[in-house]
Amino acid sequence: TPHIIPRPAHSLSRANISPNALRVLYRLKQSGYAAYLVGGGVRDLLLGHEPKDFDIATDATPEQVQAVFRNCRLIGRRFRLAHVVFGDEIVEVATFRGGGGQQSLESPRNEAATHGRRIENGMIVRDNIYGSIAEDALRRDFTINAIYYNIDDFSLVDYTDGLRDLNAGYLRLIGDDPSARYREDPVRMLRAVRFICKLGFIFNPACEAPLFQLAPLLRDVSAARLFEEVLKLFHAGYALPAFEKLRHYGLFAELFPATDACLAQEEEGFPITFVNRGLANTDARLQSNKPVAVCFLFALLLWPPVRQRYQRLLTADHAPMDAMAQATADIANQQQQRVAIPRRFGLPMREIWTLQPRFEHQYGKRATLLLGHPRFRAAYDFLLLRAAAGEIEAIAVAEWWTRFYESSQAERAKMMTPRK
Ligand code: ATP
Ligand code: MG
Repeated sequence: TPHIIPRPAHSLSRANISPNALRVLYRLKQSGYAAYLVGGGVRDLLLGHEPKDFDIATDATPEQVQAVFRNCRLIGRRFRLAHVVFGDEIVEVATFRGGGGQQSLESPRNEAATHGRRIENGMIVRDNIYGSIAEDALRRDFTINAIYYNIDDFSLVDYTDGLRDLNAGYLRLIGDDPSARYREDPVRMLRAVRFICKLGFIFNPACEAPLFQLAPLLRDVSAARLFEEVLKLFHAGYALPAFEKLRHYGLFAELFPATDACLAQEEEGFPITFVNRGLANTDARLQSNKPVAVCFLFALLLWPPVRQRYQRLLTADHAPMDAMAQATADIANQQQQRVAIPRRFGLPMREIWTLQPRFEHQYGKRATLLLGHPRFRAAYDFLLLRAAAGEIEAIAVAEWWTRFYESSQAERAKMMTPRK
């Protein structure tokens, strides 16, 4: 039986729920369905944070949800749910899941296994069997993510002692076998790190210990899904602590193997300083509401192996531009196997790299041409970061470009006169 906390006894106020999420909750209720706010929305509101999005759970099937809302589309094969779309706000509506634990089906030939819940090597590859709210609570990841807000009477419904953990600042997986929960979905390991960093919570030791062994399970997760998770980890204002925690548990090596190998070699502290500084900058920019670019983030995270490959090719007598072109292609392609970087980010990421050797042409027309390059600003910021991190090749070049960039037209002309 759940703990039920009536409206007067808790602090979650409708005034803080997005009007669109409220609209969805009320419409479901008016249509005769159960409707609850759950997940990050409830967790963050109770902690006094502003939620990133609002997730709704209901006993209506996705098709029934679609029949209630015109602005609704059904998404996901692995985990089917309804998106109710309001301009650029999407409210996610998930049907209560059931069929966890013993009833789970391992055989792929079974009817229910192909359409409902399917498990391969302990990993849930499909989860579309519907159930009760009590079952739904138990298949969620962490206790603090399984607190429900009931639109029918504004009470909180808590099946897993999530409120106790929330008040104690404690991150705990639901259930009594943490390893099995990570095996069911290895992304939960990344979510664990994310919530620890975002909320500043303490890890339940039984949930922390398996990470050190289970990190390699991330290899079974699709590269596209990992891209989404990497963005959530590194573009939410706590990239530096997330990076440190991921390395601590051996999770970073699974996401960025080439980078991790470079950090392990660590020549004169350069690669780690570079990544640390870059991530600290990212956090500072988000702190002051400045924009951050996905291409820059990946350029930064993969620079240590790109630079290493580049320098080896230079030593083997390749011309700088060719060496950089080859190094960027090699590392970018290799990385796609782990974290799939969509082309719209992958192409500018490679441009940031290939522009680096071009900064060394500090004379003639080439400098002015570079100024007009659409990726100049990002590549220049990248150059400054390299210099600040102590990359010897970059220091003088960065100084020259800073003077050049900040000069008037006439001064620029003088600076560009051919050097001996
Ligand atoms: P945020 O939105 O701030 O990133 P969140 O907890 O809301 O955090 P979502 O990805 O929006 O994360 O998921 C909503 C809810 O769905 C979670 O709070 C959790 O209850 C459940 N959930 C999400 N991913 C998983 C998972 N991999 N395993 C089990 N439950 C999950
Ligand atoms: Mg959410």
